[in-house]
Amino acid sequence: MNHKRLIIASNRLPFTVEEDDKGDLKLKASAGGLVTGLSAYLDSLQHSSFTEGNEYVWLGWPGASISDEHKEHIKQIAESQFNAYPVFMEEETMDAFYHGFCNKTIWPLFHYFPTYVVYEKESWESYKEVNEHFCETIMEILRPDDILWIHDYHLMLLPRLIRQRMSEVSIGFFLHIPFPSYELFRLLPKNWAKEILQGLLGADVIGFHTHDYTQYFLRSTLRLLGYENNMGKMFIDHRLVKADTFPMGIDFYRFNNAVNSRETQIEREKLQNILSGLKTIVSVDRLDYSKGLLNRLEGYKLFLANNPQWHGKVTLLLVVVPSRIGVDRYQAIKTKIDQMVGNINGAYSTLNWVPINYKYGHVPFHQLVALYSVSDVALITPLRDGMNLVSKEYVASRKDMTGVLILSELAGASKELGEAILINPNDREEIAASIKEALEMPVEEQQNRLERMQQRLKNYHVVKWASEFIQELDYIKDEQRRFQ
Ligand code: UDP
Repeated sequence: MNHKRLIIASNRLPFTVEEDDKGDLKLKASAGGLVTGLSAYLDSLQHSSFTEGNEYVWLGWPGASISDEHKEHIKQIAESQFNAYPVFMEEETMDAFYHGFCNKTIWPLFHYFPTYVVYEKESWESYKEVNEHFCETIMEILRPDDILWIHDYHLMLLPRLIRQRMSEVSIGFFLHIPFPSYELFRLLPKNWAKEILQGLLGADVIGFHTHDYTQYFLRSTLRLLGYENNMGKMFIDHRLVKADTFPMGIDFYRFNNAVNSRETQIEREKLQNILSGLKTIVSVDRLDYSKGLLNRLEGYKLFLANNPQWHGKVTLLLVVVPSRIGVDRYQAIKTKIDQMVGNINGAYSTLNWVPINYKYGHVPFHQLVALYSVSDVALITPLRDGMNLVSKEYVASRKDMTGVLILSELAGASKELGEAILINPNDREEIAASIKEALEMPVEEQQNRLERMQQRLKNYHVVKWASEFIQELDYIKDEQRRFQ
């Protein structure tokens, strides 16, 4: 059991700074997979009698540029309300960094969209600048006996920058998106690619969602830097470093228990009024080209064309959550989705039936659980996805043990959810056939598949994911001492 202070670093803090009507600055909690997952882990630390005295600090950007006169005030309320330490940045700097290198270079490349990748020296420079600024801020609070856990693709240079300033501190890094195969990774200019790998290798443990991503990282490290590994262990300047696989779970019971809550029941009744006995297919994603939304709609359209017996009996609840607003590529897909939904509804609707119910917007937690729990099928078809938590949340929300998950084999979650109907998201005919199969699957088979998937999600929940990562970090630190 560790009693050290845990410092979490991620691009964004779990809240956003907003101005209220009187012009006062307030902090508004924000959700998302990483925040929800880590919060469950941090709560478990606070409530565990074994780890009494455990402290943590969450460090990141508060989502807005703060004028000098307000910085001290924001620092105080961030600390008292969220145990957080803000990294102050100008919005323009964050914009060049986040919309630039993060989302026009790393995101498309690591999700296998090489033709979307922009290679711009200025955005690479802003990436370095922001990573260095994070380093400076962390050094204001970091102590040698802390554990520093850095998250995701925005901060890949940070482990090494910190290591150079404080050589003995424990540093873990977790990548929440895929790590691509060497053939993709090598498309980056060589000095950028090497700096990113060296940046990551500043950590003691580097974690990935799947075995494949870990292997791709090790392969790139060998090809570009010449480091051999033994079962993921490498010696970097005489320091032991380990790359390993930790598939991120969800807070299973948060979803499972919420199904019968009063709030969810109210939301479910509202939905059932609209659905009035139709079989229901749910689809929930952030707006992103990696999510395969257009293929999904084409697959559904083909299903309708091939299966007139299902007309008037099934509907698709399509939820698209706004994301990266203002980025051209995202706006372009939004326009295409709108057109395709209109096209399908125009072609097949009758006066008392629409094949697609479409919502573009955020969905609060209980509404989300209601959506999952009223839907007979979940259709999740990303072209690439590091993990995909929505698929796990759907499985956890099937408290009555019915329901069928159709999942892309190119989502990390497919490695753990083998009882889903796994499809290739580029194959519209396979998607169409899988929808029919799911709608017609016998209840007993649905139960058998769900039981096995739920058991796995209960066993490897998000708190376990985080605890195992931190345990591995402790173990590697011990090994390092032994080798000294
Ligand atoms: N989610 C959310 N707001 C919504 C709808 C969904 O925060 O309006 C959550 C959802 O519950 C899930 C996360 O967003 O935990 C999405 O994670 P996933 O891994 O599926 O995809 P990502 O958006 O991280 O690529």
